Amino acid sequence: MSPEHVDVLIVGAGLSGVGAACHLQQECPGKSYAILESRGAIGGTWDLFRYPGIRSDSDMFTLGYAFRPWKDSKSIADGPAIRQYIRDTAREHGVEEKIRFHHQVVSAEWSSAAARWTVTARRGDAGETVRLTCSWLSVCSGYYRYDEGFRPTFAGEERFTGEVIHPQHWPEDFDATGKRIVVIGSGATAVTLVPSLAPTAAHVTMLQRTPSYVLSLPGRDPLAQVLRNRLPAALAYPIVRWKNVLLSTALYQFSRRRPAAARKLIRRLTEKQLPAGFDVDTHFNPPYDPWDQRLCLVPDGDLFRTLRRGEASVVTGPIAGFTESGIALESGEHLDADVIVTATGLNLLPMGGMSLVVDSAPVDVSERVSYKGMMLSGVPNFAMTIGYTNASWTLKADLVSRYVCRLINHLDAEGLASATPVAPPEGADQPFLDLASGYVQRSLAHLPKQGRRTPWRLNQNYIRDVRLMRRGPLDDEGMTFQPRVPAPTTEKAVA
Ligand SMILES: Cc1cc2nc3c(=O)[nH]c(=O)nc-3n(C[C@H](O)[C@H](O)[C@H](O)COP(=O)(O)OP(=O)(O)OC[C@H]3O[C@@H](n4cnc5c(N)ncnc54)[C@H](O)[C@@H]3O)c2cc1C
Repeated sequence: MSPEHVDVLIVGAGLSGVGAACHLQQECPGKSYAILESRGAIGGTWDLFRYPGIRSDSDMFTLGYAFRPWKDSKSIADGPAIRQYIRDTAREHGVEEKIRFHHQVVSAEWSSAAARWTVTARRGDAGETVRLTCSWLSVCSGYYRYDEGFRPTFAGEERFTGEVIHPQHWPEDFDATGKRIVVIGSGATAVTLVPSLAPTAAHVTMLQRTPSYVLSLPGRDPLAQVLRNRLPAALAYPIVRWKNVLLSTALYQFSRRRPAAARKLIRRLTEKQLPAGFDVDTHFNPPYDPWDQRLCLVPDGDLFRTLRRGEASVVTGPIAGFTESGIALESGEHLDADVIVTATGLNLLPMGGMSLVVDSAPVDVSERVSYKGMMLSGVPNFAMTIGYTNASWTLKADLVSRYVCRLINHLDAEGLASATPVAPPEGADQPFLDLASGYVQRSLAHLPKQGRRTPWRLNQNYIRDVRLMRRGPLDDEGMTFQPRVPAPTTEKAVA
């Protein structure tokens, strides 16, 4: 029996997968599709992470979908509110019934003769194998391993008699009351956890090897507050969204072009929020430039408020090892702890761990060149969604979803079977992600390369990418198209 066929198969029912489905329904009406999701719930990141205070560090006017206004008054939203927003979107748009839960995609094989993908998934705990075919494959599997966060090992860990927790696996019944907690880390998760745990804990220490840039943002967007009562949401939302796009782009560009001035400005803003005499340079002045790594945003300066109240403190320095009662630092200092939280990050995992094969040849993703940050050289009718690192994920996810719809409609209109990017003639040597953060650097070797020019390079600049992705030509020098049946014996570029 031949496997079930859908026009489009989407992998993952997180923010990107649900968005991709909504765009497909809207822009390619009549296309059949299914979403395969390995977990039992919608929401991806926003369902998985349950640590106290879990929230976005982008504003929701840009992390929300362009097509569905974010109506909550908080612009930096908590995890449950984002999860609800994704679920509501899926329900309202009829996407929910297209999701097949507990289907973990393990491989996809493209056949040029049949012009389709055969996708293999493992269903449920029993590990039953399910096969589907599709004409287009969109992978929206996020960017990191779900089963395991990044967790370096520390000397003497086995000696510690307290509890060690990784934020990716937060115990439901955890109670911070009266506990001395050390949070190892300096990224978005650590700066979220510290003010959330501090009110009930005996004391919280944020222990970092190197500091991060931490910027305070209003938790509620002032312009959104004003427009909310005067304009319908459908009108107010794009205004606030574009205001935030412009502001964050300006901050990023300023940081990259005038790093010394940006560093000075952030330092001044940080100093103002900290108690008198606080050692800003040791704890909040990183050795790298702003936006070499992602900036941490804190709503209404909650981290700084906690530090001002003395409920939490920051310690900067390398760890010598764990002891029975806490952590010994190389400086000789000892931090007593009942609980150690290892907010040490994520393990990147491209394409949810699935393997790709094109016409019987396995695809080594690290040897491919990404086309417009979303397709791979030599891989037909395939897109993957990896959001921006310097702006809200959804800004790019929306661009990718709409571009896929444009391409699918183009294939139909021209009677073509497939669209296959080619690598640039001069080769490609640029990293796929332009961040010095540990989790990116640990994984670059497994990600595709970028070229040095369009269309093999995405700008990490939404305003320029909008032009390229929405209005740029589909048949540029990076793309080839293959005709429909009779299947060609040798592929011939027709564009
Ligand atoms: C704690 C945290 C905070 C973040 N905060 C922000 C923020 O403020 N702003 C921002 O822009 N970004 C943020 N990010 C990045 C974040 O991942 C994106 O915002 C967004 O949620 C990604 O959506 P996604 O659907 O692409 O991926 P995910 O949310 O990771 O969802 C992927 C889905 O695919 C499923 N899946 C994976 N592999 C397979 C497979 N092989 N088969 C079937 N299904 C599969 C997963 O189960 C999951 O449901 C944050 C990330 C984390 C971890």
